Amino acid sequence: MLCSRAIKNLNPKLEFVEHSPQKCPRMLLLPDYDPNDCEAGMRLLEDLTTNADQIQKQVLKEILHRNSHTEYLRGFLNDDDEYDDEEVFKNKVPVVNYEDTIPYIQRIANGEPSQIISAQPITEFLTSSGTSGGQPKMMPSTAEDLDRKTFFYNMLLPVMNKYVDGLDQGKGMYLLFIKPEICTPSGLMARPVLTSYYKSKNFRNRPFNRFNVYTSPDETILCPDSKQSMYSQLLCGLVQRDEVLRVGAVFSSAFLRAIKFLEDHWKELCTNIRSGHVSDWITDPSCRKAVSIILNEPNQELADLIEQECGGGKSWEGIIKRIWPRTKYIEVIVTGSMAQYIPTLEFYSGGLPLVSTMYASSECYFGINIKPLCKPCDVSYTLLPNMAYFEFLPVKKNNGGGELSQDQVHSNGGSGGDDKEEIMETVDLVNVKLGHYYELVVTTFTGLYRYRVGDILMVTGFHKNAPQFRFVHRRNVVLSIDTDKTNEEDLLKALTQAKLVIEPLGFLLTEYTSYADTSSIPGHYVLFWELKMKGSNGLLPELDTFIMEQCCSTMEESLDSVYRRCRKKDNSIGPLEIRVVTHGTFDALMDLCVSQGSSVNQYKTPRCIKSEEAINLLNSKVVGRFFSQKTPFWEPFRIETSK
Ligand code: AMP
Repeated sequence: MLCSRAIKNLNPKLEFVEHSPQKCPRMLLLPDYDPNDCEAGMRLLEDLTTNADQIQKQVLKEILHRNSHTEYLRGFLNDDDEYDDEEVFKNKVPVVNYEDTIPYIQRIANGEPSQIISAQPITEFLTSSGTSGGQPKMMPSTAEDLDRKTFFYNMLLPVMNKYVDGLDQGKGMYLLFIKPEICTPSGLMARPVLTSYYKSKNFRNRPFNRFNVYTSPDETILCPDSKQSMYSQLLCGLVQRDEVLRVGAVFSSAFLRAIKFLEDHWKELCTNIRSGHVSDWITDPSCRKAVSIILNEPNQELADLIEQECGGGKSWEGIIKRIWPRTKYIEVIVTGSMAQYIPTLEFYSGGLPLVSTMYASSECYFGINIKPLCKPCDVSYTLLPNMAYFEFLPVKKNNGGGELSQDQVHSNGGSGGDDKEEIMETVDLVNVKLGHYYELVVTTFTGLYRYRVGDILMVTGFHKNAPQFRFVHRRNVVLSIDTDKTNEEDLLKALTQAKLVIEPLGFLLTEYTSYADTSSIPGHYVLFWELKMKGSNGLLPELDTFIMEQCCSTMEESLDSVYRRCRKKDNSIGPLEIRVVTHGTFDALMDLCVSQGSSVNQYKTPRCIKSEEAINLLNSKVVGRFFSQKTPFWEPFRIETSK
């Protein structure tokens, strides 16, 4: 058996030696190198991708070697099993969903030892935007994992430098934010992965940070008040406009929110620049201090210039390029559900490349885009084989052109049958096939074993021996505006609650569908409802605005906590809208879908519409539009203590 060995120096190279766990400490799978040395970084990337298979095998051995005594693995592997054997692992340890891991995670959150799942201490939980039972999923994390993330982020630097010259000649304006966190009964924090990272020393010590190569001082990113944080970061970005070479945020939705914020606040920002005085409502002391240092003195000329670009009735087309003229690209994720924002980003960007650099999650960071300047539709991510042990569940196409994951195939059409006893056949990283679809399964260094991430990926090519994947979609998600991920079941649950408002009044909801309307910022959920009166032949009486608005807010109250946080705390989702359509609209929708190839026999009303033609058809039949008038209740989630 082979194992990878990286030499710890400034010129890293992966070597292979006979496997021996003792000879494979953590540095071998997390090679140390100087991130400023782009050539060394590119060489390391070549080594990682060339040796993808050996590294994957070594990663699995290392994870199993470390964690062989955890309660979790002991539950599946016997004393006489060769615990670190790949085949034994795959035959005995099941592929699981989040729900299967909840009991273990909850016990640790309630104070039991980490060794239930991980030999290394669990140091915090990362709250995912995916939810279970309406609450964010909690992923275990370790101190070492911060270093793994740092390794990952550092790999992005040489790739970007390879394609864009002169990035060291100026600054990056990255608008980054932290989110609320809670403390579990065990004393461990539960917070979003980026909040955890931004609060870590790894982030503070990120390459070049001490040379002020980012326009946002750390204090503005770490400001817990998101409005003060946004205002301060934009102010710093405007003041340093001449130096900015790249701009970005994590997701495109967040970047567009910043543009909207600028639209709403540019006058005040200009007043601050003109006077050299930060607005009094920026009260967070360290944030205020950091911004005041950058604002430094009155700058009449700059204030006039920004006012001229933003005001005077001018269109905001190309505003990014006009305000930050040296910008070479916009770094935001535009794949997956974020693709819906591409046209709006293009409008504001003035033709700048949109760069999606990475694919990652709370469970694990997965892969990077090694052709960062490619078109958004061509973005593929190369999974880094030292991040986790990756497996792939083949996803088949069904007759209607949709996809069937393996459990749907096994349970004969997705009836939700008990398929837990089945051994799910997975494919290894290097054995996936070009053009095929897979669901990603990970075994992490942090206590997740054969865990279904829920993302569907398609193989688009290989770099050396490492496959590259297009992000296709997240399993089951029908609606997403920001980090919210609403599936059909969530939507139905919310509708069921709203129906309780109208049914006593004699209304019947006969059909519904939805779409994410991102034509304005922030975007919002739109529900198309076909209603009728009990006993009538489709005639719809006058709709009571108050009742319909109540339906909208009832739905919002029933959606999960990530939706409600985005809506209430982050203001990243606008009020939910119900558009009532005329009788027969959904028949017309079926006719349209069938005319475009859907089978009449198997036709089911799509619960989410993406096709422009279908949305236009539905919009042409709207007889009433109603918006939620209340923001839904939200508070940081609570951890259930064990009974
Ligand atoms: P979270 O667990 O909240 O961190 O969300 C992680 C999920 O966001 C992933 O599993 C994907 O579904 C989605 N995601 C992350 N990065 C990307 C990307 N580059 N493109 C598309 N979707 C992504």
